[in-house]
Amino acid sequence: MSGNTRRWRLISCVSVAVASAAALAAGSALSGNDPALSPTWILDGMLLGLLLRCEQRTRRGIMAAAFLGATAGWIVLGHHFGTSLAFAGASILFASVATALFDAVLWHPDHLTTPRGLAIAVPVVLAVSPLVPAALLIMNFHVTVDDLFDNPPWRGVLMEALGLAVITPLTLNLVRRDMLLLLVPPLLAPTLVLAGLYAAIAAAVSLQQIGPMLFLLCPCLLFLVGRLGPAGAGLGILLTFLAGAASLLLERGTLVAAIGPEPGSAILFFQIMLIVLSAMVYALGAAVAERRQMNQALADQHARLSRKESLYRLLTDHASDVITRVHLDGRRLYVSPACTAMLGWSQAEMMDPNWQTRVHPDDLPGFSAVRTRMAAGEEYASNIYRYARKDGTWCWLETRMHMVRRADGTAKEFVANMRDITRQKETELALARAMAELAEKAATDGLTGVANRGRFDETLDQEWHRAMRSGETVALLMIDADHFKSYNDRYGHQAGDACLKAIARTVAEQIRRPHDLVARYGGEEFVVILPATSLDGGLDVAERIRAAIEGLDIPHEANADGVATVSIGVATAIPTPDIAPAGLVEAADAALYSAKRDGRNRVQASISPIRSAVVVPLLPHFRRAALTSQADRAV
Ligand code: GH3
Ligand code: MG
Ligand code: MG
Repeated sequence: MSGNTRRWRLISCVSVAVASAAALAAGSALSGNDPALSPTWILDGMLLGLLLRCEQRTRRGIMAAAFLGATAGWIVLGHHFGTSLAFAGASILFASVATALFDAVLWHPDHLTTPRGLAIAVPVVLAVSPLVPAALLIMNFHVTVDDLFDNPPWRGVLMEALGLAVITPLTLNLVRRDMLLLLVPPLLAPTLVLAGLYAAIAAAVSLQQIGPMLFLLCPCLLFLVGRLGPAGAGLGILLTFLAGAASLLLERGTLVAAIGPEPGSAILFFQIMLIVLSAMVYALGAAVAERRQMNQALADQHARLSRKESLYRLLTDHASDVITRVHLDGRRLYVSPACTAMLGWSQAEMMDPNWQTRVHPDDLPGFSAVRTRMAAGEEYASNIYRYARKDGTWCWLETRMHMVRRADGTAKEFVANMRDITRQKETELALARAMAELAEKAATDGLTGVANRGRFDETLDQEWHRAMRSGETVALLMIDADHFKSYNDRYGHQAGDACLKAIARTVAEQIRRPHDLVARYGGEEFVVILPATSLDGGLDVAERIRAAIEGLDIPHEANADGVATVSIGVATAIPTPDIAPAGLVEAADAALYSAKRDGRNRVQASISPIRSAVVVPLLPHFRRAALTSQADRAV
């Protein structure tokens, strides 16, 4: 035990001893030192209140202190030491029995200050309290046990019982934690003023002679409790008790005037008055306490809610994402303020019932699909779409929607979190464009702008397999500029390049179907893939190309016709798994070779089967060639 605690205990014990002696002296003085009138009611009530209020382990100390104080008190009142010990012991015995009884029937000492608690306590008090005065009377030797039955000391018994009903709750009310609050600022000043005022009124009312004036105490007490709460109730009853006791001791005032100077009757009247006032103010005190508790609970709840709300507000107000609550029917219920920075629309404008008209028309199908899925009961969905800004530009939004459900599981609303992904989306699109351009460049011939060899191989492979599935014919044209080496030699390489460009452009102009492809095969050679085209169709296109190039009238002195011309080999095939696309190229090449051999500026066709094709001569420029074999080419 620390030094402080020990000192505090010593002070408490000395205070209890002094208070016990004083309570005994006051009780004795009030009853005119008549032992039959039970001088112990103040002492016993106080002791019981203290024992009920304190913890189990401090009870023994209090009882010892009270025993010493009461013994000293009895000695001062003129009794022998032995008698004094016996009387004091009777009070301790009573208090122990009564405490045990209260502990059994009451769940908390504060309940004794409520009307319900009093209703339980008073019968208990009435049941046990006669023990003490009876014991006193017997031990005092003034009466015998027979006397008790012949002439029951009812006044003493009643006084003790009523006294306990007044003093015990009063002690409990005075020895309480919130009483300390009244004794420190900021409540100290109003407490002192109100208590002083009430004490003056109580003294004035008690000491004057007009009986009904006593009722003045009621509103004053109610006011005191209303202002100071439950602790004020104890204070008020204490002041009323002191004022009444003073009036009895001075033998003047309303009580004495109404009842007469006979101490027993006046004390009983005084006690009954105090019980009535106690019941009234404690009930009011309990109500005030309950209301204060309720107000405090409400205030706490309000503070908790507003803390929560301000946290959410902080999050939604400062989040860069826009947070929305959406009704199941699509109406927006809430839009966080970030919408203005993101989209330019105010919160009110975002709540417009027709807000969905601001979704980009191209994105509406996806947007509606997500809403339908959510309405069908999906818990979560995300969606990317364009939403019109107020300035007319489009903002790419990524929205994540969550379903909010009630406690019973039914759908309540959606919470949608919108994020501006415009920058990310624009980067993605730019990247995709760049990739496409790069792919296009990688597949394009730098000089002529038509597809390059790589693209040709790829496309031929694709078309070959497509035709294999559909069973259609693929035609391939192999085009070669005639005597081009001589052209370069005569006109220079730059002119040669320009001529190749003109040839490529002219070939491309003759190609009409979207799936046809013109590619530079290498040097001054070009190829044309014509999907789903027969040999006749291929020959037609080839002749068109040949004629168009001839029609360009590009001077070429070394050429027989005096202008730049091309020779074209045409081959077709219906692809099957046992033929490779290279066979078609080979056949077209062989037909081309045949055209060169036959005089150039002409079209030659190969006939299937590709590997044993025969070159068929065509007139004037058409010749069906039955190409023999690779070996023939070498001839
Ligand atoms: P043939 O009629 O038998 O095809 O005769 P040719 O001279 O055209 O055939 P050859 O294969 O001997 O010569 C092809 C020439 O094409 C060689 C080269 O000078 C020229 N050539 C190839 N690529 C280019 C090019 O990109 N630019 C230019 N200016 N000339 C090229
Ligand atoms: Mg060539
Ligand atoms: Mg050539």
